[in-house]
Amino acid sequence: MTTSEIPPRSGQFQNWLRLFAFLTPYRARFGGALLFGVVNGLTSLALMKGVPRVWDAVFGNRSSSPSLAAAIILLVPLIMLARAISGYLSAYLMSWVGTRVITDIRQKVFAHIQDLSLDFFNHSNVGDLISRINNDCQQAQSAITSVVADAIKHPFTLIVVAGALLHKDWRFSLAAVLLAPLCILPITIYGRKVRRASKLAQENQGEIVSRLHENITGVRVVKAFHMEEHEKQKFWETCFRQFGYQMKMVRSINILSPMIELVAAMGASAALYYAWQSQMRSADFWELLLGIFFLYDPIKNLSKLHTTLQKSLASTDRILAILDAKSSVVEAPAARELAPVRAEIRLEKVSFRYDSQWVLREVSLAIPHGTTVALVGPSGAGKTTLLNLLPRFYDPAEGRVLMDGTDLREVTLRSLRSQIALVTQDTILFNDTIRNNIRYGSMEASEAQVEAAARRAHAHDFILHQPFGYDTVVGEKGVKLSGGQKQRLAIARAILKNPRILLLDEATSALDTESERAVQAALDELIQGRTVVVIAHRLSTVQKADIIVVLDDGRIMEQGSHADLMAGGKLYRRLHDLQFHGDGPGGLG
Ligand code: ADP
Repeated sequence: MTTSEIPPRSGQFQNWLRLFAFLTPYRARFGGALLFGVVNGLTSLALMKGVPRVWDAVFGNRSSSPSLAAAIILLVPLIMLARAISGYLSAYLMSWVGTRVITDIRQKVFAHIQDLSLDFFNHSNVGDLISRINNDCQQAQSAITSVVADAIKHPFTLIVVAGALLHKDWRFSLAAVLLAPLCILPITIYGRKVRRASKLAQENQGEIVSRLHENITGVRVVKAFHMEEHEKQKFWETCFRQFGYQMKMVRSINILSPMIELVAAMGASAALYYAWQSQMRSADFWELLLGIFFLYDPIKNLSKLHTTLQKSLASTDRILAILDAKSSVVEAPAARELAPVRAEIRLEKVSFRYDSQWVLREVSLAIPHGTTVALVGPSGAGKTTLLNLLPRFYDPAEGRVLMDGTDLREVTLRSLRSQIALVTQDTILFNDTIRNNIRYGSMEASEAQVEAAARRAHAHDFILHQPFGYDTVVGEKGVKLSGGQKQRLAIARAILKNPRILLLDEATSALDTESERAVQAALDELIQGRTVVVIAHRLSTVQKADIIVVLDDGRIMEQGSHADLMAGGKLYRRLHDLQFHGDGPGGLG
């Protein structure tokens, strides 16, 4: 049964608030960042008020004492120092908190994914998960740090500076604030045009590249079909389109800076005219100009706030959706330790479905300890699914899986899985040293134990031939090793774990005879003295098994020894005759 999909979500404000929990441990630093942000805003006001005083002291009223003039002149560097320190601390602390918060969120999401049961992964897309952990966490960071910081710091500066401006000369300030957007309008329009043209140019650039690639790699076909002229024409069209987009960009970009200058000049003329008419003192004029200048930054940032918030809300939703996904396989609160399994594994009327379709139906099976059970049957019969129920990767929808009489749902996952080793078809190796790959799952094993396991898995010799022996890094997914070598490492890993129960999915891919023999010998070592459930693809495995279980369409059709089933002459015999030609890796799965 599948319950742990990523639940769909809509952009909700309370999700965003939930993300704030991540901020709590760092509230002191966060508070500090806000405080310094506010101090930084205050320095804008101080400059607006201070610079005109300096102006006055220098050019205006020359009667003041030299020491007072010096003190006033020193005021500006002092304010600038406070501005620099507060700006730095505010930005540093905010980045610290933000970066720390994404680190925590990433770890939390990753940890949650680690703990989710397998069915979650059936419904997830790898790329999507990666992008959530990478990009969305990054985006969400800005949701809780820069958005909050902007939402506090800039309105503060805005109110303080605008208040001072209105107090100084409300007519001038109001006119400036109302007219400013009008002046900025053409700039915004052309800015948007530039962005649009640049996006089109970028897309078209991609098309040029793919055309070139297609044409050059397909040059034989082009020539054979005598399509050279057609190709030339198509390429010309794409290139000419690029020319058009680029000219659009050039026009807008080059119009932009004269326009900004023009607007600034008109604004300055209007302000100067007003100053002349109202017989304003130059210091007052400076104060007003500086005030307008310091308003620009908060207004610009606040106008972007909405977009940033929207983007980060979407990311927040995508992160929380993962954190809200629930495992369908959960440990019972009163789960006990499963004692080492001594007697048997038993399936009682087990039925299972992934989605709506039943994959196992009323499967009952007893596996006495120490026996080897081979699962055979056509592809899609449910063999892998049955195997997956034993380490409790999934729970049956109906029926029970018991080990020594205990339902798996009553025991801890750790005590269950520590008794099981799984060797799958596609050997999973991590990009680490050979030693650590063998030790995976038994990290406390000594070097001697690792080596002993490798010897028993017939891997020791080839490992010594690697450039750095046991310390050779195997490359991503073990690319630097052959198929047979990878399998033997996986077998060494299982031998080292020394499990009571071994689940084996025999590889279907053919190995050369020598590797095949080495892998087979390694498997024989591994199997000894354990309960083994194997999805069998080789005739030799099937023949050696104590019990052969023939599955078809989720049901057990036949069960018995090789000789019994051959004599019975039903499905097993048909599969056998059809698919085993000699003893190579066959297709019983
Ligand atoms: P076998 O190992 O015998 O080839 P499986 O146990 O892999 O068979 O599959 C049995 C059936 O379950 C098949 O029809 C398969 O399509 C379906 N199935 C297997 N895995 C999944 C999954 N993760 N999600 C949905 N259906 C699945």
